[in-house]
Amino acid sequence: MKERGIAVWEKYVRKVTPYVPGEQPENNNILKLNTNENPYPPSSYVKKAMEEISDEQLRLYPDPRAGLLVKAIANHYGLKEEQIFPGVGSDDVLAMCFLTFFQSEKPIFFPDITYSFYEVWANLYRIPYEKKPLGEKFQIYPKDYFGENGGIIFPNPNAPTGIFLPLKEVEEIVEKNKDVIVIIDEAYIDFGGQTALPLVEKYDNLLVVHTFSKSRAMAGARIGFAMGDPKLIHYLNDVKFSFNSYTLGISSLIAGAKAMEDNGYFFKTTEKIKNTREWTKRELKKLGFSFPDSMGNFVFASHEKYRAEDIFIHLKENNIYVRHFQQPKVDNYLRITIGTKDQMEKLMDCLDQFIR
Ligand SMILES: *Cc1c(COP(=O)(O)O)cnc(C)c1O
Repeated sequence: MKERGIAVWEKYVRKVTPYVPGEQPENNNILKLNTNENPYPPSSYVKKAMEEISDEQLRLYPDPRAGLLVKAIANHYGLKEEQIFPGVGSDDVLAMCFLTFFQSEKPIFFPDITYSFYEVWANLYRIPYEKKPLGEKFQIYPKDYFGENGGIIFPNPNAPTGIFLPLKEVEEIVEKNKDVIVIIDEAYIDFGGQTALPLVEKYDNLLVVHTFSKSRAMAGARIGFAMGDPKLIHYLNDVKFSFNSYTLGISSLIAGAKAMEDNGYFFKTTEKIKNTREWTKRELKKLGFSFPDSMGNFVFASHEKYRAEDIFIHLKENNIYVRHFQQPKVDNYLRITIGTKDQMEKLMDCLDQFIR
C-alpha cells in the first residue's frame, strides 16, 4: 500500500540523520590530517602479540567482560576492575551511556559546538536535549550547566576547538549536578590538560571516557572505555549484555592490553605530538592564522584573509586532507590534525603557496 507515493511501512522506520565521519581515502598518497589519527604506529608490543593469536582463541567467543583488557586498564590507572566499562571505541561506550543514563524527561545539556555525535545519539534514542552556546572565544561557561537537566556531556579538551576547561570548573559542574550523570569525554586528554579521573572516587555521578584511537594510535582496533563508580559500570553492563554480549573481539582485547603495558613508548609519542603541535601553532600564526590554544592533537584554525573552504579545496587538490565543517559559527575554520614534523612541514609549504 502507498500513501502519497510513500510505502506505508516507511512511516514506521526509525529515521535518523547519521553522523558523518571524516573521509577515509583509499589512495595511499594522501597526507591525512582530517580525523585526528596518530601519525605514529602503535607500540611494537601490539603487533607481536597479534602474531601470536591462536586458532583456538579465534575459534571461541571472546571473554564478554573483556577481562584481559579491563585488568590492564585498571592496573594502569590504579582503579578496580569494577570501575571500568570497555567498548568498541569510545563511540560505542558513549552510545551505551546515552542509552543507559539519559532516561529523564528533562533535556540533557551539551555545548552547541562540540563532538557532533552527541546530537545524533540524542536523536536516535529520542532524548530531549539543549545545546549551550559557547562564548565568543569558544569557551564553555560552567554556569550554563547548573540549570535543571537530564544529564550532561562534553569533551575535555573540547572538540573541535581543543580548548581545555580547568579541572576546578569541571568539578563545579559535577558538584552542581549530583542528581544526574555527568560524562566527561576525554578523547584528547593525553595531549594536554588534566584528567578528571581522580574525581570518580569522590562523585558517584561522574563518568570519564577515554579511547585508544588517538593517543594510543589504535583507531583501527576500535577500543574505548568508561571509568566511574562500580554502580554506574554495573548499569552499563546490564544494558550492554541486553544488546550485544561480545563487543570486543579477541584481537582488540589482546592488542589493547599489550598497548597499556608500553608506557615508555606512549609517553615518547604523545610528547612528540605535543611538541609538533606547538611548532605548528607558531608556523600557522606566521601565515596569518588564528586559533584557540588547542590542548588536543589538532588545531582549529581560521585565516584573516582567506576563506576556510578555499584553503580546504587547495589542500585537497594537493592531496592534503583536513576537516572543514559546513556549520554555522565554525564554517570559516579548518581542523588540522597534528602529524609528524615532516608532515606538518609539507602542510606549511602547501599553505604558504596558497597564501603568498
Ligand atoms: C575521536 C573521538 C571520539 C571517538 O573515538 P573512538 O574511540 O574512535 O570511537 C569520541 N569523542 C571525541 C570528542 C572524539 O574526538
